[in-house]
Amino acid sequence: MTRRSPDIEKPTDRIAVFPGSFNPFTIGHLSIVERALPMFDRIIIAVGINTAKPVDPESLDKRLSDIRNATASLESIEVASYSGLTVDFAKEHGARFILRGVRSVADFEYERQIADVNRTIAGIETVMLFALPEYASVSSSIVRELQSYGHDVTTFLP
Ligand code: ADP
Repeated sequence: MTRRSPDIEKPTDRIAVFPGSFNPFTIGHLSIVERALPMFDRIIIAVGINTAKPVDPESLDKRLSDIRNATASLESIEVASYSGLTVDFAKEHGARFILRGVRSVADFEYERQIADVNRTIAGIETVMLFALPEYASVSSSIVRELQSYGHDVTTFLP
């Protein structure tokens, strides 16, 4: 959902892609988007699809609409899905930055490697924000696990 017409977009606009699985989109993800907004003219939240692990179209649509609802009050946010390399998606959308969140040392080392490769192959810089302490233990995988046992997960969702 673009809330800004592409024809008024300037080549100097600072556009960031925030890629992830967002399965589901949590309060931790939303917090990263909100805190990064002042840094960019536009943020594209991009749900990455691993072609080796096909996702059914209905669940992808639901994921996208959940993210759109969660970010409906925010300006300059777009929500999309993609497959393939994140840097290729970023370039196609005129984005010079990738946005990521870091919760732990494990996240840090993983993100550092990917950021390094993305800068080397595409000249795209990664901007990382540290998770707020209160969200540092929130993860989509834990939310999914709780859901699988029928536990209420609304505290972790926007
Ligand atoms: P991926 O499968 O690419 O790691 P995720 O949907 O799990 O996708 O996460 C997307 C991004 O959001 C990653 O940079 C991840 O570190 C970050 N992230 C996930 N949960 C949180 C959180 N609670 N606080 C801050 N950042 C987070």
